[in-house]
Amino acid sequence: MRFIRTKAVIATVGLALSLAACGDAGDDGGDTTDVEVQENAGDEFDEGTAMKEFADSGEITIGVKYDQPGIGFKGATDDMPVGFDPEIGKILAASLGIAPEDITWKETISDNREPFLQEGEVDLVIASYSITDERRQVVGQAGPYYVTGQQLLVASDSDIESLDDVKGKEVCSVTGSTSLDNIKAEGAKPRGFDTYSECVDQVLSGTVDAMTTDGAILLGYAAEHPDELKVVVDPFSEERYGVGYSLDKPEMCQWIVDTLTKAEDDGDWAAAFEATLGQSGVDTPEPPAMDECPAA
Ligand code: GLU
Repeated sequence: MRFIRTKAVIATVGLALSLAACGDAGDDGGDTTDVEVQENAGDEFDEGTAMKEFADSGEITIGVKYDQPGIGFKGATDDMPVGFDPEIGKILAASLGIAPEDITWKETISDNREPFLQEGEVDLVIASYSITDERRQVVGQAGPYYVTGQQLLVASDSDIESLDDVKGKEVCSVTGSTSLDNIKAEGAKPRGFDTYSECVDQVLSGTVDAMTTDGAILLGYAAEHPDELKVVVDPFSEERYGVGYSLDKPEMCQWIVDTLTKAEDDGDWAAAFEATLGQSGVDTPEPPAMDECPAA
């Protein structure tokens, strides 16, 4: 396989830099990395596969989050989302010969990820999307490409230090997420919102006692408001992020796994992490082993 380097590489403002500069949510979420776009990608795939179709048409639509700094973020005036998930999307698109600027990005929220895939609204969902048996009944999920765990985000002066401390307390999260289900089981009073940015506003205004979701997401918000917010409690779940695809196109699973495995081996995965989540001071982890794809 021969790769060429695209010229369309623009380093944008990094999370740390933008935080120092203004502290607002307008332009943060990470750097973008260099992407190598596969030449003559159409020749690499079998006729009749989804990948061949993407490669020949030069088009792919990817659903990502727009309000989660470090994971998936797009400010109102930004052309492209930034974050670890969009970077994973760029790696996948590049293997199809599609350059970053030719990807169609679409905002997904937690609750519409399965319907977006089922209805063909997007071709891929890369949106802090935990692999679960339940979700795998209705959509494909290849991976994991990253593993995190659920924690709590509270006001800096909060007394909440353990999971026991949130029993009977108001804790917000997002509808359609594993986080909301998990916190119900812990005896908190759950409050579901559409997005995590709405939920974090409730913590900042003191309307709820805590917010809960994956540590990787909470760290991004804490980094935006270092004087007002802190992440507490050891991770109490395992969230294995997968790439969502339609069960109508089962051949996509092996392509996703192979492309991401290659990115893990050649350093592209680590570069993507360092440019995004790594900007909030998290060390680059060893990439997790991926699940086998279901038999065709
Ligand atoms: N990873 C969890 C999930 O997929 C929580 C984060 C999110 O809602 O995006 O449900």
